[in-house]
Amino acid sequence: MGININIFHEIKKELDATKTTLVAVSKIQSEESILKLYDAGQRDFGENYVQELLTKYEHLPKDINWHYIGHLQSNKVKYIVPFVSLIQGVDSEKLLTEINKQSLKNDRITDCLLQVHIAEEETKFGFDKNELEHFFSNENNLKNVRIRGLMGMASFTDDKTKVKSEFLQLKNSFDEYFNGNISVEPKPILSMGMSGDYKMAIEEGSNMVRIGSLLFGARIS
Ligand SMILES: *Cc1c(COP(=O)(O)O)cnc(C)c1O
Repeated sequence: MGININIFHEIKKELDATKTTLVAVSKIQSEESILKLYDAGQRDFGENYVQELLTKYEHLPKDINWHYIGHLQSNKVKYIVPFVSLIQGVDSEKLLTEINKQSLKNDRITDCLLQVHIAEEETKFGFDKNELEHFFSNENNLKNVRIRGLMGMASFTDDKTKVKSEFLQLKNSFDEYFNGNISVEPKPILSMGMSGDYKMAIEEGSNMVRIGSLLFGARIS
């Protein structure tokens, strides 16, 4: 097992054809593996753990765009805000408020995606439909964050109909809140799709996929 550059090029070609951004999910993967993809041209990498991200950020090339894709605790926001490219998976207004506060301190505007709870599992984090509605219908004073779009994870199941309907649900919310004007720059982001379901996610309108095991081989922790 391990990294497979041919698969990377195949996936890249497929994604480029639909203008879909690839985030290579490198959690638990070695810096050496990341560098192999980097040398093949990949710049967007996704990490789930703050300490691991900090170490990799320190060691690896500075033109990597780091995406934080895991559940982020408020007390750790301050460590990643100085350099993170996109915080995906912002799952509460409280967290967003903290990201705003730390961004102000760092004199920057941090790009974020709101995570939407689409899967059936109770344990998955994110805004539900009502919370989204509440968020977007109220003025907020968060000037140091920029909500670029939405992110979601479908249920972990072989039931394709179910996954498809969850993606569709997320796409509908995305259209409602972000896609009114498709000429808006920078382009709104809909981050959905992983190794097992990214093809379906793209069919349902995703423009950013987060792929880990398909690129790096199974994670051994
Ligand atoms: C780990 C992870 C991925 C990648 O999963 P794979 O199945 O390995 O492609 C994508 N998104 C999130 C939020 C993850 O935690």
